[in-house]
Amino acid sequence: MEIRMEIRPSNLFRRDRCPASGKLEGPNDGSTSPAAERGTNLHEIVKDGISKPDERVALMVKADDGLDFVNACWDEADSCWASLTPDQRKIAVVYIEESLDLKEFGLENPGTLDFAIVVPKSEIGPGFIYLRDWKSGYSYVPPARFNLQTKIYGSALVLKHAIEGDVSIGIVQPEAKENVDGHIFNSSELTGMPAKIKNIIARCQNDDAPAVAGSWCKYCRVKKTCEARLIIAAEIMKIADPIGAIKSLQGDEQTQAWEKLKDAIKILGEAHETIKEAVLSGELELYGYGTGNGKKSKYWTASNGETMNALLPAALSKGLAMPDIVTPIGVTKAEKLLGKEIVQGLYAEKLGKPSLKKVKAKKS
Ligand code: SF4
Repeated sequence: MEIRMEIRPSNLFRRDRCPASGKLEGPNDGSTSPAAERGTNLHEIVKDGISKPDERVALMVKADDGLDFVNACWDEADSCWASLTPDQRKIAVVYIEESLDLKEFGLENPGTLDFAIVVPKSEIGPGFIYLRDWKSGYSYVPPARFNLQTKIYGSALVLKHAIEGDVSIGIVQPEAKENVDGHIFNSSELTGMPAKIKNIIARCQNDDAPAVAGSWCKYCRVKKTCEARLIIAAEIMKIADPIGAIKSLQGDEQTQAWEKLKDAIKILGEAHETIKEAVLSGELELYGYGTGNGKKSKYWTASNGETMNALLPAALSKGLAMPDIVTPIGVTKAEKLLGKEIVQGLYAEKLGKPSLKKVKAKKS
């Protein structure tokens, strides 16, 4: 029996990474969130301000706490237009909050393209596209180079207008990133998207579609109950006690284990650096980690506070005790992730002590 699932451009990244997510989530019940409503409202304001620049001052009043967002989107749209020559402007096609038919990609529902300027192929050039996606809020957005949603929209425009030049895709998320995250594709890189998307949809419909946890779980409707996600969380939490493991060995066995461990640390250190670079470049999504832009350079950071909060009750119900969670990651980190009160409260419950300080004082 075919199970109904919701597949649309904005959740394709999750469907691709976790093919079971479509079936596990099921059809959307139409519920929304305050963040989504804020985003819709701000998108409307951005749209109106691009179409009618003279009305921007009046529109700013409606933007409330999203003023920086709407201004950044307007600036970006203006700068795309300003970069065109007079001849290109004469033939340019501008899309603003446009509904695109995506049946060619195997998608039942249309997608809404935020902003694009298409300069069609003509005697002055092979045609090119500027495509921009507006994102309000701080939530993680896949980088332009790997962003399936924007790549689908780019591909749809390439096919519709027979573009042979470049497609510049930019993701504008001013509340999270100072600069536009962009990538320039050659149009030929996007013509294969319909087949790629149909392939993802087929994998999601497969009876054996696997559930694969990762940072994409953040937006999944079943994230609080999903077994696959819980197993990963439990594995992270249950790192073995290394001192106990070494203590349990004797003589040569102990020395050999120590030497092996040192080798493993060296190898893992190298692997860690490589993985870190891949996360920073956007090539890899890593569960529990996100990236940010510092003054000097890009950095990566544990972003699993919300993850831990959501999973903690489930983890405890599966028999994991608080020390199983706190010992491997450290008290300070646990407090950062879970909040001081929760950690101290759970320790107090476990050890019958009112606070961590008193537990430590008694040990010394
Ligand atoms: S929570 Fe994560 S692993 Fe589970 S179904 Fe959703 S996306 Fe997949």
